[in-house]
Amino acid sequence: MTDVDVILNGGSVATMNGDFDLLDPGAVAVRDGVIEAVGLADQIAAAYAADEVVDCSGCAVIPGLINAHTHAPMTLLRGLADDLRLDVWLMGYMMPVELEFVRPDFCWLGTQLACAEMIRSGTTCFADMYYYEEAVADATAQAGLRAVCAETVLRFPTPDAQSYDESLERTRDFILRWKGHPLIMPAVGPHAPYTTTAKLLQACAQLALEFDVPLHIHIAETAQEVEDHRAEYGMPIVPWVKKQNVFEAKVIAAHCVHLDEGEMHTLLHHGVGVAHNPTSNLKLASGFAPVVRMLELGLNVGIGTDGPASNNDLDMWEEMRLAALLAKCVTSDPTALPARQALAMATIGGARALHIDEHIGSLEPGKRADIAVVDLRSVHTMPKFTRDSEALYARLVYAAKGSDVRDVMCQGQWMMRERRLLTLDEQALTAEAAGIARKIDTFLIQREESVLSKLLVIGQVAQKKTFEIQVKVHLSDHVPIEGLLDRSEIVILKPSVRRQYDTYFLFDDPYRSRLRYREDELLEDGQVQDAVYRLTLISETREREYAMSVLLSRSRFDAPATRSLRFYREYFKPVAEVGVHKERRRYRVRYGGTDFAINLDRIVKPELPGVFLEIKSRTWSRQDAERKAELIGELLGLLQVQEQEFVREEYVELAVEAERLGEEAGE
Ligand SMILES: [Zn+2]
Repeated sequence: MTDVDVILNGGSVATMNGDFDLLDPGAVAVRDGVIEAVGLADQIAAAYAADEVVDCSGCAVIPGLINAHTHAPMTLLRGLADDLRLDVWLMGYMMPVELEFVRPDFCWLGTQLACAEMIRSGTTCFADMYYYEEAVADATAQAGLRAVCAETVLRFPTPDAQSYDESLERTRDFILRWKGHPLIMPAVGPHAPYTTTAKLLQACAQLALEFDVPLHIHIAETAQEVEDHRAEYGMPIVPWVKKQNVFEAKVIAAHCVHLDEGEMHTLLHHGVGVAHNPTSNLKLASGFAPVVRMLELGLNVGIGTDGPASNNDLDMWEEMRLAALLAKCVTSDPTALPARQALAMATIGGARALHIDEHIGSLEPGKRADIAVVDLRSVHTMPKFTRDSEALYARLVYAAKGSDVRDVMCQGQWMMRERRLLTLDEQALTAEAAGIARKIDTFLIQREESVLSKLLVIGQVAQKKTFEIQVKVHLSDHVPIEGLLDRSEIVILKPSVRRQYDTYFLFDDPYRSRLRYREDELLEDGQVQDAVYRLTLISETREREYAMSVLLSRSRFDAPATRSLRFYREYFKPVAEVGVHKERRRYRVRYGGTDFAINLDRIVKPELPGVFLEIKSRTWSRQDAERKAELIGELLGLLQVQEQEFVREEYVELAVEAERLGEEAGE
């Protein structure tokens, strides 16, 4: 008789070993955190003795589930913003809230909550990617769970680093402190190709290789990402990532939704582990990962929940079921991805994808004792058939729920017995989480109060307050402006021809805010030479009217428009939208010792007849404004413009008016 610590006795043991051995009634003997023996119940009883023998009859005994991709601390952001497109969700909500709130204590608390949820549904190991990953690691280790913890690296400032150099330093430091821990495997987490750079990916790969730790990255999650990548780099994502040496490391690639056959072969060739996230992909409408094909090729594909803010839970049972169901539907083949394979993906497949299958993923002697006991005696999991061994997998994957998990052990330590958590205080954790939710609510309510604050949180905004003396004139046709300006007292500094596509978002707020998205194309011989995209929040007040011009004070918040018009539309949710397209001939001139901008605009949309002549100049003082108003009067004289031709409206008002007239005419 050999003494062991615990014997799990009498359950249906799904070993998930190479032969998928099923032992029923089986038993597992555990000693010093390691699986000592797995066998039929009577064999184990004959050879081993333990102080603690747990009766598992009526239950399945399976390897602890492995969540191959998540962002654990995001339990604190669950339900914050849903039913949005990925970019709006991520850039508009998650990242700004994270920048404001994510601190080590936030990550620690969020991770402990995640651990409670994961233990409750039989997960004993997860691959994480977040900020302050040392807090994630610490919270996980204290809960007694296992994790591959990747510190996130981005090309822009993150909650835990001002620059990516700092991020890399932080990651190195984190790896040095946690490498060799019995439960935590530190890792490097360059977020995604589109949020990093070639240089940054190379540095991450180097770091992962130096310490022989995994590298966790999002790859090809959306079709848009793939399209943008191709446009920017002229090649698909996978070969480009490969070029940065990333696949020399032990890679965990999350999503891999939009890959071609060649890219899958590249991943296979480099032993890249894939984390399939069915719920997240469905919820964000990212698409269907070619999972069946990847498995056919022999890729190691695990299953992940993704973060609890985009799923919205950490229940691997739902993921297993969805992975199986989706694969069938997508391939029109009900035999695709059977239950056993789904459970394998959530156990040994996940371990392989995380590059730690030597230690976990199956119930085999010598592996760590990470085990879940699932009670299959509930009404929704009955009856039990024994004719076909596949029946157990079908009961587990298609009928069982996370709440059927009765006992959970990680590294031989009990985390949950009879559904009672042993290492975590759920009540205290949820109470603390409620306090943080209130603070985040307040932050977002304040932010949503004005268009300006919404603009400010998405970044790179410069404020300008300008005073401008301006006149706008409507002319029935083009003025031969070069000819008229061709006189010695006027110096034309810089003429240019542009095409401007303006979209104005109108808001029903006290500031009558108007946000302009401008696509400004510089033309040369009719060809586009350059295009600039800008976002400008304009509020303006009319300070004073002169004979032929007005003094405007504008406060403008100006930012490069780095995202699509669609993004801004979904993020800002304007009450109305007006499009103005125009061809602009712009002249910078000097007259009377002052610089003026003269614009000749032909409005293409809406169809406004004639051209609009605009003359304007910056001003800093009243006297200055008065002097400039006079000069504008002189310029108008030189251009032979009549007084009745002045207009005082902005194009956007003219466009609204034109639309209204058009509608009336149509009626
Ligand atoms: Zn993710």
